[in-house]
Amino acid sequence: MLAAGHEHFGDNDGMTLIGSCPSVGITGYVLGGGAGDISPYVGYGVDIVKKFELVLYDGTVVKASEEENADLYWASRGGGGGNGIVTHLTYKIVQAPEQKYEEENGKKYTLLYLAMNTKDVDKAAKHIQEWLYDADPLITGKFGGAFAWGPGYVAMPFVYLGSWREAMEDLQATGLLDDEIFTVEPRPFTGYGNAILSENYEVLCTSDQSCPQFENGMVSSAYEFNTYAEVELNFMCTEGLFNYGSFEWSNTSGNFCKDLGIADDQCEDDIQKLGIPLRKPKLCNKLVIDAMMEKAGDPSSFMNSHGPSLEFVDATRGSFNATVSGVVQLIQENSLSIAGASMWPRLDDKLFAKILQNHPETSSHLQHGAALKVRSDTTAYPWRNAAFQVQYSSDAAAKSFLELLIKEGVPAQRYYAYLNPPGMKKWRSYFFNDRWKDLTKIRAKYDPKDVFGKPLTIESFGE
Ligand SMILES: Cc1cc2nc3c(=O)[nH]c(=O)nc-3n(C[C@H](O)[C@H](O)[C@H](O)COP(=O)(O)OP(=O)(O)OC[C@H]3O[C@@H](n4cnc5c(N)ncnc54)[C@H](O)[C@@H]3O)c2cc1C
Repeated sequence: MLAAGHEHFGDNDGMTLIGSCPSVGITGYVLGGGAGDISPYVGYGVDIVKKFELVLYDGTVVKASEEENADLYWASRGGGGGNGIVTHLTYKIVQAPEQKYEEENGKKYTLLYLAMNTKDVDKAAKHIQEWLYDADPLITGKFGGAFAWGPGYVAMPFVYLGSWREAMEDLQATGLLDDEIFTVEPRPFTGYGNAILSENYEVLCTSDQSCPQFENGMVSSAYEFNTYAEVELNFMCTEGLFNYGSFEWSNTSGNFCKDLGIADDQCEDDIQKLGIPLRKPKLCNKLVIDAMMEKAGDPSSFMNSHGPSLEFVDATRGSFNATVSGVVQLIQENSLSIAGASMWPRLDDKLFAKILQNHPETSSHLQHGAALKVRSDTTAYPWRNAAFQVQYSSDAAAKSFLELLIKEGVPAQRYYAYLNPPGMKKWRSYFFNDRWKDLTKIRAKYDPKDVFGKPLTIESFGE
């Protein structure tokens, strides 16, 4: 999607909403919701899909859109699927926003790492929620990405739809950089460490404290690019494609230079895990990003399939008596919790402060702005009250969060595309609120013989 969007619309600043890992297919993604780095600007995948074509259980081909089979269109937007096989879908390409400094040098896209100590956690909690829910969504919606926190700090790796200069101004205008509440000393707070400012792969400044350009020093790093696809690929490059989790998320051989078709001296050995080797790029430079772009556009490449690949499994031989147990162990070490993800609504500020201070975690996708501006009944995806999508980092973290949220009366909202294992009694309402009843009726209409039924698909009570 990203590569095709770039090829056809990149010159006109067209953007495609995608998931954070290259092997995420667009169909399952849209059927389950579709959260990505530009969701605060464009909404969920379900908000920009305009039309489906499906083959039903009896071979009939139908279209689903606002004009035709509107019930099927509604159900296919976040209802989890199960009504037929999707053979085509029409997905909107969205134009990047107007930019203040566009005339200087064309449009810009910035990978921005904001990391701050929380001086006063109660005020910080209030302030962050106000930024997400009350500030001007036309401004805050330009900032997407993740949000991490722990005792005394918050950190936001943002994809920003503009230049770093404009990002700084927008952060000031919406009040997120408030030195009454946040402080940058002592550094480093988190892994973000030193400050770097780079434009188009050229490092303009770097220092142990902060670049002079970042006046108040709260931005750790800003990497500015000329195209949307480059900023997304750089995010993938720095945040996860080239690590041990990726043997599952991509079909890597274990040697990314080989996978990317670039010279071996661009790569280095990673710290070995369980004796399994991994060779990954030293830098996310233009050569690496160009190679990623090319592989992203090739449906048969390692980036467009899940792993583990046979080659990777083979590489585990010698380290383990049983190859499979080695891979299983690595999966367990690298996996997030199997508890899926929760969609947190606006929390009581005191509860949010308690969470920020005592329960470190990451919201893997911020879903404020446009994602919250759609009426809740427009699509089968129901949670238009929740800016935080929290995919728990471990089963223990999931358990402690879920117990805390239940105790505090926070609704148990879950995200369908990050499925839980079967077994949870109230899964229908956790994923779909009370609209699972409508989904049942729609499945009975389009799949009356339950041909496409499987665990965690809303049942068809048809014939
Ligand atoms: C590493 C990783 C990263 C992820 N990142 C994100 C993210 O950033 N944002 C996000 O929202 N989600 C993310 N997800 C979740 C992702 O959206 C789901 O896993 C989604 O199901 C993937 O889509 P797929 O087409 O690859 O689905 P598959 O795994 O192939 O299928 C999943 C289900 O979708 C249905 N389906 C798929 N294709 C069709 C079709 N043609 N017709 C009918 N039904 C179909 C089927 O019911 C199938 O069982 C991530 C998942 C992984 C593994």
